[in-house]
Amino acid sequence: MDKHLWYDTTSVFVNGRWQAPAEGGQLPLEDPSTGEEIGTIARGTRADIDAAVAAAQGALAGEWGRMTALERGRILTRIGQLVLERIDDLAVIEATDVGKPLTQARNDALALARYMEFYGGAADKVMGETIPYLDGYTVYTMREPHGVTGHIVPWNYPMQIIGRSVGAALAMGNAAVLKPAEEACLTALAFAHLAQEAGLPAGALNVVPGLGEEAGAALSGHAGVNHISFTGSVGVGKLVQAAAAENVVPVTLELGGKSPQVVFDDADLDAALPFLVGACIQNAGQTCSASSRVLIQRGIYEELLARMGDSYNGMMSGPARADLNLGPLISARQKEIVTGYMEAAADLPIAGQGTIIDDAPAGGHYVPATLYRDVPPDHKLAQEEIFGPVQVAIPFETEEEAIAIANGTDFGLVASVWSENGARQMRLAKKLKAGQVFINNYGAGGGVELPFGGIGKSGHGREKGFEALYGFSTLKTVATRHG
Ligand code: NAD
Repeated sequence: MDKHLWYDTTSVFVNGRWQAPAEGGQLPLEDPSTGEEIGTIARGTRADIDAAVAAAQGALAGEWGRMTALERGRILTRIGQLVLERIDDLAVIEATDVGKPLTQARNDALALARYMEFYGGAADKVMGETIPYLDGYTVYTMREPHGVTGHIVPWNYPMQIIGRSVGAALAMGNAAVLKPAEEACLTALAFAHLAQEAGLPAGALNVVPGLGEEAGAALSGHAGVNHISFTGSVGVGKLVQAAAAENVVPVTLELGGKSPQVVFDDADLDAALPFLVGACIQNAGQTCSASSRVLIQRGIYEELLARMGDSYNGMMSGPARADLNLGPLISARQKEIVTGYMEAAADLPIAGQGTIIDDAPAGGHYVPATLYRDVPPDHKLAQEEIFGPVQVAIPFETEEEAIAIANGTDFGLVASVWSENGARQMRLAKKLKAGQVFINNYGAGGGVELPFGGIGKSGHGREKGFEALYGFSTLKTVATRHG
């Protein structure tokens, strides 16, 4: 990776400066494809978070706070251009750090560029309204930044999640403190370099890598932070929300999922097949919106399972740079969790399973893509987020039964319907419990323009699309009595 990594990985980025973390600690940097340590990253702590929040407050009081929306938008657009210029490096860095196949890492970099373009263009298009009120009054609303926004992101799609969260926050004029995941923070640092190169004023973006329970907890409970955007697990999301509640600070929670694709007898199976499989095994199943459940109507159950099984049998796992269908999982711990679920499914029939290539490094965290069939809807595998390349197929007879099974988990992130029946499409779009419903397609992770977020244990608040700009701002109503 060395020739692709043009910056030092061991620093925190605070107030426009690259500096050693306050307490001097470092954490190991692992390549999940080999299990080898390939360097270190900064172990930022509370002192670094304090400095980062102070820097963000300083930026709001200074040049950044005075910039027009147009100027902010131009900087974001320029970051997007720089991302495209460095896309080959970013793809290799992300593939090495996260273990995702190169093509998928490259797509994430493209998405980051697209977020910068989208929010760069949107920055000066957020408007208020005038409200008819009493005689002799003029009333209008205006959108203002929250102030300092905290961003805690996971390791599975660092570039995409930074793009959607930090991009929207900066577009609205907030100053951001970003705490990337300890398992994969290299592209967060790269993003800060590119932002600096694009002319983002010091303090408008600060990046503090570190452990969740140290830097993450310090950020979520910081009295100087005015909004928190958290993407990660349900358990940590609850801690972040509780910490923010102490300061009465709004929180966006983008959590997990158990997203279903519902396939009816009249579906176009040729069109559906790549989405049914691809939306689960993408990023080795480590995707919040992975379609880890496929509900199939009885009349096509055997035919579709045979075809999906064939796809699974052809799935190859190997090192990120081999650019196969799947890379390794992020860590030994994640592999242990996923194989634990597979052991709990020992008596379930397997409809198809991929292979790990012979020369995959022994220390890499590989798990073969696996499709289980005839899985009872209340089985642990059909209820819990596995976060690995494991998909369950569940048969159903009627539309009512399909809706009940689809809605029968604690989550509600994404769902899809495959059917040529327009009335059925409309009914399911209304009845499915999810933040996004796709008809005859499935958008795992895609769609910069599309508001995204969950209900139930999948979280609350929306990121992506124009909607995110409302989430990263607060509304002020101005009522003038002029007679
Ligand atoms: P995680 O919750 O363990 O970690 C996420 C982030 O939180 C990391 O930066 C971590 O350092 C930090 N953190 C950990 N403990 C903390 C604490 N006590 N206080 C503050 N911050 C803390 O999640 P993960 O295992 O890294 O990611 C996987 C999870 O993320 C899955 O559940 C997945 O569904 C979810 N996810 C959701 C979305 C979405 O948009 N809905 C996107 C990607 C991932």
